[in-house]
Amino acid sequence: MQSKLKMNKEVINAQSIFQDFLTLLFPNCCAGCQKALEKNEELICVECRANLPKTNFHQYGDQRVAQKFIGKISLRNAFAYLQFNKEGITQSILHELKYKNNQEVGELLARYFAQEIKELVSEIEFIVPVPLHHSKKLQRGYNQCDPIAKGFSQILEVPFAPDALIRNKATISQTRKSRSERQENVSNIFSVSDANIFKDKHILLVDDVLTTGATLEACAIPILEANCASLTIAVLATA
Ligand SMILES: [Zn+2]
Repeated sequence: MQSKLKMNKEVINAQSIFQDFLTLLFPNCCAGCQKALEKNEELICVECRANLPKTNFHQYGDQRVAQKFIGKISLRNAFAYLQFNKEGITQSILHELKYKNNQEVGELLARYFAQEIKELVSEIEFIVPVPLHHSKKLQRGYNQCDPIAKGFSQILEVPFAPDALIRNKATISQTRKSRSERQENVSNIFSVSDANIFKDKHILLVDDVLTTGATLEACAIPILEANCASLTIAVLATA
């Protein structure tokens, strides 16, 4: 018995030495600046975390994110955590999330963000990520918005539903069109898997980056048509 315990201990020691050796060869790098992370740092280094370009809109009641959707869709509120700047920390982190399979960093940022806006979204009953078209999901292997929804779900303590929304078309035409033509264009890109899931519920829709808002608008249409109680949007970054 004693020798078995001793052996287990030795195995654990060997594992931890091997882990240290691997870290030495392949250090975990910061998703923001690519520098090797210290042992006590998780995914983003202390410096990048301190320098995250937060919008802080929600702290000042700044409605500019929600204002993007006025006259298009009816929202309860809309929030954006970071400012998206080319060549900046945000771009680097979101690139890791979207193209390098660094899903953990998306989850981590979502947790930071959810902690900040928790009191403002206390009505939320479930969280829906913007879905990828199945062809794109097959190609990438994952939907980069799923870990964002998961991070929110952990902090808000409400479920997230990765398959509640379905993407029917892979792309959204961005050409300039009249309002009615655009509505027509975006109205059938997404659909809900089951309208009853959304009925009378307070929904949080999450995405990685907000640019024109066309994708979120297209997602919102079937959710609102399913008679949800309210719809709020949260994005990790805004352009
Ligand atoms: Zn860093």
